[in-house]
Amino acid sequence: MKPIPDLAGNPAGLQALFGALDGPHVLVGVYDPADRLDFANGTFRAAFQLDTAARDMTFADVILHGVLRQCGARVDRGDALEFIAETQTRRRNQPGQRAFATDLVDGRWFWMTETLLESGWLVVIGTEISTLRHGEQALIASRDRAIQEARTDALTGLANRRHSLSYLELAISAFVRTAVPLAIALVDLDHFKKINDTYGHAAGDAVLRDFAEVARKAMRQSDLIGRIGGEEFLMVFPGTSVDDAAAAVERIRCSLIGRRVAISGVASIDYSFSSGVCCVELTDDINTALERADRALYTAKRGGRNRVVSRRQGHA
Ligand code: GH3
Ligand code: MG
Ligand code: MG
Repeated sequence: MKPIPDLAGNPAGLQALFGALDGPHVLVGVYDPADRLDFANGTFRAAFQLDTAARDMTFADVILHGVLRQCGARVDRGDALEFIAETQTRRRNQPGQRAFATDLVDGRWFWMTETLLESGWLVVIGTEISTLRHGEQALIASRDRAIQEARTDALTGLANRRHSLSYLELAISAFVRTAVPLAIALVDLDHFKKINDTYGHAAGDAVLRDFAEVARKAMRQSDLIGRIGGEEFLMVFPGTSVDDAAAAVERIRCSLIGRRVAISGVASIDYSFSSGVCCVELTDDINTALERADRALYTAKRGGRNRVVSRRQGHA
């Protein structure tokens, strides 16, 4: 059996190797010990538009050249010099190999292998992984979408019951640690059964969607509103006193006065809600907090509906 020859004694093998390193999906760059780009293959030169550049460019020059022409490596940080300084310390830290993924301004991704030889020469080889990377990004996006859907009430687009309650649980444990006030409100639409009975289930659904839209627009980004039952909603107001939360719910209630939900082929519908608002106390868990809000809601219903009742600290 013939031994496999070294590349040095095998010009045909060398040529094949160079051929493979000059493909359209491979970047090859060789930097000398002074960090000047001594060799770059066609794909590298095209990616950085180097054919128009002067010889003897350093690594820093190559990056800046790309930044100015909006090509080459994507430099996310606003300050390209900072990016260069940071990369510089890593790439010539010690002889050996470093591998990382990098993306170009044109959207392609490469898996880069940088080899720093004892002699100070540095060889960079990048293999295109755009398909892999885009597949991965699509996977991440669909996972995020699935998580979002699992938390969302399909009818209204608000947080669903499970997510609302686990959010409240989280808010209560943050409150216990920080003692920053936390208020909650339970909202229940009034005589909703009658709306369904009079105008039909689809009309009831339209009212639920309308309320969700009005409430969400009126609430702050840091507040949460979720649908926890048929026509029942939970609002969570982190960092808010019971009075401020009650005022916010009252504003929403007032904004419904005179509002009509148009139902195709039928008259338009007006609706109202009752709400119980309370603050969370240090001794509360999710159940005791919700019970207190529910008692306030019951008082609002018994008092004639279409009103907001709040329960201040100390009241059971
Ligand atoms: P109250 O003022 O005391 O709250 O009276 P109400 O009629 O609103 O309360 P009740 O609990 O008697 O009725 C709630 C109704 O909500 C009954 C149920 O059919 C309806 N409902 C529950 N989920 C949905 C839904 O997803 N869509 C529609 N259209 N109706 C629903
Ligand atoms: Mg109800
Ligand atoms: Mg109701």
